Amino acid sequence: MKHIASFSGGKDSTASIILAHEHEEPLDLIIFSEVMFDKNISGELPEHIDFIKNKCIPKFESWGNEVKILRSDKTYLDCFFQTVEKPLRHAHNKGKNKGFPMAGHCNINRDCKSKPIHEFYKNMQDEVTQYVGIAIDEEKRLERIRISDVPKISLLEKYGYTEQMAFDLCKEYDLLSPIYDFAPRGGCWFCPNARDCELRHLRNNHRDLWNKLLELEKTPNLIGDKWNTLTKTSIATKEEQFRWEDAQLTVFDYLE
Ligand code: SF4
Repeated sequence: MKHIASFSGGKDSTASIILAHEHEEPLDLIIFSEVMFDKNISGELPEHIDFIKNKCIPKFESWGNEVKILRSDKTYLDCFFQTVEKPLRHAHNKGKNKGFPMAGHCNINRDCKSKPIHEFYKNMQDEVTQYVGIAIDEEKRLERIRISDVPKISLLEKYGYTEQMAFDLCKEYDLLSPIYDFAPRGGCWFCPNARDCELRHLRNNHRDLWNKLLELEKTPNLIGDKWNTLTKTSIATKEEQFRWEDAQLTVFDYLE
């Protein structure tokens, strides 16, 4: 039986690995599935992927844990420019590119994040127990692992850790991702579920990535032609909103 931990760099999966280390739980491998924007640019925010590769992985390895980074053969841009040959419902979409993923039904999760994980487990010869980072105050998610076909264990549940306690534990070990300085959650920098605080952070700190989204929205012939296809919100609209808010702040600063 191999014990494998899924790791995202978020507080819960990081705290699970810290608990495995503290309590000498069996841990044969840590896997991290990295979504890629294109062949060279990570889908993770630059400071988060830097945290994972240059802080977490060396620390876990110093504890004797092996870490494997998984990647799909598909990138975000591959999915974005995928041509739809046989639309299931809307015939007029035939020949168009998929474009932006649908919030709530993200194909990037399926094609770029979960796929390499499924393939990895499919090729495993040994029986596996998976460690998942689910806190004791996440009852619905805990319910789901109890009925899962695959043996899954939450070390946070086993050792009575809430989400806040997981956060504090990561902080204590200096293993808290910098994303928590500005957002309550992580995710791809192009995620259609991103909140304003995440979008603002992207625009203010990674303008090159922000501009890539603005450029993508100008692509013709897209099914998902706006960054958030569900609310029909475009990044161009967000750009306007943030510019307007910044301008107002400047005026108020001047008046003060
Ligand atoms: S973080 Fe967002 S864009 Fe990335 S896989 Fe999850 S839902 Fe999709």
